[in-house]
Amino acid sequence: MTGLNKWLRLLIVFLVCFTIVSYSWFLLGGAKKEYTVTPKNSTYSIIDDSSQSGATTTTLNISNRNVLLECNLVNKAKWPFCEIAVALTDAIDIGFDLSSYDSVGLDIDYTSPLEGERIRIYLRNFDPTYSNTDDPLSLKFNAIEYTPGSNQGLQIFPLSSFQVLSWWIAENNIPVNKSSRQFDNISIIEIATGSYVKESYYAIKLNRLVFYGTWITESSLVKLLLLLWVVTATIVILIDRFVLSQKIKTSEERSQRLRDANRVLYNKSLKFEHLACTDSLTRIRNRHTVIEWLEGIVLQTQLNKIPFSMIFIDLDHFKEVNDRYGHSFGDEVLIKFAATVEGLTRCSDVFVRWGGEEFVIFCPETNMSVAVEIAEQIRETIMTKAWGFDQEFSLTCSLGVAELVDESCEDLIKRADFALLKAKKMGRNRIEISWEHQQLK
Ligand code: GH3
Ligand code: MG
Ligand code: MG
Repeated sequence: MTGLNKWLRLLIVFLVCFTIVSYSWFLLGGAKKEYTVTPKNSTYSIIDDSSQSGATTTTLNISNRNVLLECNLVNKAKWPFCEIAVALTDAIDIGFDLSSYDSVGLDIDYTSPLEGERIRIYLRNFDPTYSNTDDPLSLKFNAIEYTPGSNQGLQIFPLSSFQVLSWWIAENNIPVNKSSRQFDNISIIEIATGSYVKESYYAIKLNRLVFYGTWITESSLVKLLLLLWVVTATIVILIDRFVLSQKIKTSEERSQRLRDANRVLYNKSLKFEHLACTDSLTRIRNRHTVIEWLEGIVLQTQLNKIPFSMIFIDLDHFKEVNDRYGHSFGDEVLIKFAATVEGLTRCSDVFVRWGGEEFVIFCPETNMSVAVEIAEQIRETIMTKAWGFDQEFSLTCSLGVAELVDESCEDLIKRADFALLKAKKMGRNRIEISWEHQQLK
C-alpha cells in the first residue's frame, strides 16, 4: 500500500464516520434550539384602548411563574382591546432574528365571557424599508388568531402559519415583495384579546412563550456534507496528480541518467583496445576478437535505439588470382586490399578479416544509406585501384549490407552474408542490401 493510498483510506474512513455521526446527531435532535421568552430577558407592558379614547382598565401582574393581564373592557373605543406587549429588546428597531426558528409554543389560559373566544398573537418585525422608530404601527404584523382555552398546556404553531394583516399592508402601502411574513428582526410580541369582544372581564395568563428551531436545517446539513466530500475529493485528485507528475518527473530524470550512463558505456565500448590478436597477414582484427564486443554493442545499440549497420565483403574470383599469380602474390593482394579498405573506414568503424578473402566492416551509429555509401566507395576504389604490381592486375569485390533491427548479431551477420551471396549471384562487383523484412530461411 503506497503512502497516498493509506492516507486516502484514512480520509475516507474519517469522512464516512463524520457523515454518519453528524447526520445521526441531527436525527437525534442535536441541532435543535429553543428560545424561551421570560420576564428576565424581556420587558412586559400593557397596551389597551385607553390611547384611543377607550375606557378599558387593565392591570398586569408579573410573577416568576406567569404573566397575568386582567382587563375590564368597556365598549367606548371603536375597537376595545387589551394586550400584553413583550419587548424582546430595549430598542424598537433592533430586534431578534427569529428566521432560523420554525415554530412557536404558547401556553396561555384565556378567561373570556364566551366559550371558545380567540386571542391574537402578533410578532412585530422592524424593517427600515417600511418601519420607523416613531411609529409603533409601522412594524409588520405577523399574526395568528387561535382559541387558547384554559389549562390546555403548550400549543405549538409553525411560524409559517402566521399571516401579515391585510389592513396593515394597505395602510402602509407595502410593496408586494415586502408583504409576506418576516421574522428577521422581531422586537415586540403582542398577545391581545380577540377581534370580537364584548364589554366584560377578560384575563390573559401567559404561562410559557417559546420559539423552536434548528441550528442547521436538514437540507443545509446534507449540502454541507456533500460539499465536504466534493472538496475533499477535489483536493485528493489534485494531490494525486501532483504526486504522479513528480513521480513521472523523477523516473524521467532517472531514465535520462541511465541513458547518459549507457551512452558513456557505449562510447567506451567503441574505443576498441588494439588487440594483440590481429590477423598475422593483414594486421587487422580477426573474427574471434570481435564476437564478444559485437554481442555487447548490439545490445547497447538496441537499448539506446541507435542505428548500426554492417558490410560483408568478399573478393571476386580470388581462387583464380592464386591460381594465376601464385599464393604469395595472393597474400600481397590481401594485405594491400585490407590496407586500402581500412583507409576508407571511419575511426568508429570496426574492420575485421572474417576469414580467407572475406572481410566485414561493423559500422556503429550508422544507418543503411550511409553504410551503402561506404560500401559503394569501397567497391569503386577496389575496382579502379592501381595496385602497383609489375604485372597488369585488376580486382573487384562484392558487398552485402544490412542494418540491425530487433534481432541477434548472428541474424544480422546472416542477413549481410545472404545479401553478399545475392551480389555474387547477380554477377559480382556489386552491392546488395538486406532489408529488415527479408526473412532468413
Ligand atoms: P567468388 O567470387 O565466388 O568468391 O570466388 P572465389 O574464387 O573468390 O571463391 P572461393 O571460395 O572459391 O575461393 C576463395 C579462395 O581464396 C580460395 C583460397 O585459396 C583463397 N584464400 C583464402 N585465404 C587465403 C590466404 O590467406 N592467402 C591466399 N593467397 N589465398 C587465400
Ligand atoms: Mg571470393
Ligand atoms: Mg569467399
